[in-house]
Amino acid sequence: MVTDIEEKAADTKVFQGEIESKQTICPRCGKPAGEGKFCNNCGTPLGLMKCGNKF
Ligand SMILES: [Zn+2]
Repeated sequence: MVTDIEEKAADTKVFQGEIESKQTICPRCGKPAGEGKFCNNCGTPLGLMKCGNKF
């Protein structure tokens, strides 16, 4: 029972993560920066922060 609940919670987390990756919140102005590499509002390069984990 507990394991089943945890699995569902994990699925929800993964799903939310995908949404966040597509709609990044700009760390500088705090607004949705869009899907591009730069923030649509202030032009901050988002790739540097997102790629920090992968590189
Ligand atoms: Zn911004």
